[in-house]
Amino acid sequence: MDDAAREAHISEIRSAVKALCARYGEEYWLELDGVRGYPTEFVRELTQAGFLTALIPEAYGGAGLGVLEAAAIMEEISRSGAHAGACHAQMYVMGSILRHGSEEQKRAYLPKIASGELRLQSFGVTEPTTGTDTTNLKTTATRVGDHYLINGQKVWISRVEHSDLMLVLARTTPRDKVARKTEGLSAFIVDLREAVGHGLDVRPIGAMINHHSCELFFTDLAVPAANLLGAEGRGFKVILDGMNAERILIASECVGDGRYFIDKAVAYANERIVFGRPIGQNQGVQFPIARCHTEIEAAALMVDKAARMFDAGRDCGAEANMAKMLASEASWRAGDVAMQTHGGFAFAREYHIERKFRETRLYQIAPISTNLILSFVGEHVLGMPRSF
Ligand SMILES: Cc1cc2nc3c(=O)[nH]c(=O)nc-3n(C[C@H](O)[C@H](O)[C@H](O)COP(=O)(O)OP(=O)(O)OC[C@H]3O[C@@H](n4cnc5c(N)ncnc54)[C@H](O)[C@@H]3O)c2cc1C
Repeated sequence: MDDAAREAHISEIRSAVKALCARYGEEYWLELDGVRGYPTEFVRELTQAGFLTALIPEAYGGAGLGVLEAAAIMEEISRSGAHAGACHAQMYVMGSILRHGSEEQKRAYLPKIASGELRLQSFGVTEPTTGTDTTNLKTTATRVGDHYLINGQKVWISRVEHSDLMLVLARTTPRDKVARKTEGLSAFIVDLREAVGHGLDVRPIGAMINHHSCELFFTDLAVPAANLLGAEGRGFKVILDGMNAERILIASECVGDGRYFIDKAVAYANERIVFGRPIGQNQGVQFPIARCHTEIEAAALMVDKAARMFDAGRDCGAEANMAKMLASEASWRAGDVAMQTHGGFAFAREYHIERKFRETRLYQIAPISTNLILSFVGEHVLGMPRSF
């Protein structure tokens, strides 16, 4: 497909996603937010329409599109006022199976994920005692016959209650027995339908946003050895390889959030009359919105660059990280300006601004915090000394 045809296709995708989202509307998300509800119907429809399976190759039943198209999908979902965090993981967690799975695993999982029969929405890495220091994680997986027994604890693992499969990272060789700290970790596909209540205890966390995050407790959870993803001891690479796509897609959600806030702020600034004129006529109200628009457009360019590099098979670690940082900070500032523009009404739940404001704040912390991105750029892009 040449560039013009690709742009036209992306434009069609954007319109279709927008139309699908419009059928749900912001009240749907407001209601779910109030009761920790999950958008089951929305996710199902998005999957069946082929949007959530955009990155699965056609040979495995997916749409076989690129990250550029996937980013446009996530952006439109966020821009509509929806909380894309409810569904985004399926897009990039699947990539670990695609890149590191055996042919048997790919055939077993990918077509079912593409059809919606299996949901792969969960990704278990973070632990309470080690946080960002991933290679120091304490959860272990010990080979016993044709199974591994997993023991340990995870925290903030999202959508476990609404997924059939979860990718889990655990240590198979103690850290003091490997040459490098990134070795000795392994990735597993856990079938949640069998695991929950049989070695896996799931406890929801009360949180600031409706992200369906949970604490997980593993007690001798038996996982078939056939569910090891990639080689034993090489799981860190399995996880790492999925991160560029994850960063780009999260960044595109932030661009969507930012555009949402700007749409809302502009509309309100034009219609709200105080002192006999629209508040947007005051440059003190107008300029912050214009500045945020400028920042979001700049971040969108970096997202676009990173996505095109990813699709061309080029190393895009720096661009993916920078896109995520720029977009998450720009969307947060746009949220803050939308709050300020709406005055007291920003606090009214029915205006939706406060919900989106809470939601977009996450992306400066998860899936990776801004400091860790700056550390990556400082060390790997600019060649300054390693700090940890
Ligand atoms: C709503 C939500 C959903 C999540 N979903 C998932 C999920 O589905 N799966 C999953 O595995 N995880 C998930 N997470 C976890 C998320 O990835 C982590 O919270 C995040 O990576 C940060 O880890 P931490 O909270 O342990 O912070 P910590 O590692 O304790 O860090 C705390 C702060 O210190 C800073 N910091 C730490 N070390 C350094 C350093 N060396 N230099 C400079 N600054 C440093 C960090 O940048 C951060 O700001 C989720 C988190 C949230 C809040």
